[in-house]
Amino acid sequence: MLKKTQVIFNRYIRERDEGFTCISCGSHAANQAGHYFPVKGFSALRFHEWNVNLQCAGCNLFLHGNQAMYRIGLVKKIGEKGVAELEDMATTNRIKKWSTEELKEIIKKYEQ
Ligand SMILES: [Zn+2]
Repeated sequence: MLKKTQVIFNRYIRERDEGFTCISCGSHAANQAGHYFPVKGFSALRFHEWNVNLQCAGCNLFLHGNQAMYRIGLVKKIGEKGVAELEDMATTNRIKKWSTEELKEIIKKYEQ
C-alpha cells in the first residue's frame, strides 16, 4: 500500500514538474521524483509536495539526492521561507506511520 501510494504520488510530481530541469543540478535529463528529506529517516515527509521534486537519476540515485544543491534549487522554487518551514517540519515531525486510511486518501487525491 505504501509502495503503491508512493508510485502514484511520484507520478503526480513528475507530471507537475514536466519540462523542469533537475532541482539539484539543472540537468535536462531529469525524470525522477526525488526527495529532499529522504524517505528513510523522514517518513512523515514522504508525501509532502514541497519535499519531492523532479530530479535526474544521477543526483537522485548516485549522489543520494545531492542535498546541498537540492536546497539551492528548492529555495529558487518555493522560497527561503518555504524551505525553512519544510526543515522545521523535518526536525519536529520526522517519523510517521501512515495508516491505510491516510494512504487511501492520498491515492484518491493524486490518482487523477
Ligand atoms: Zn541532477
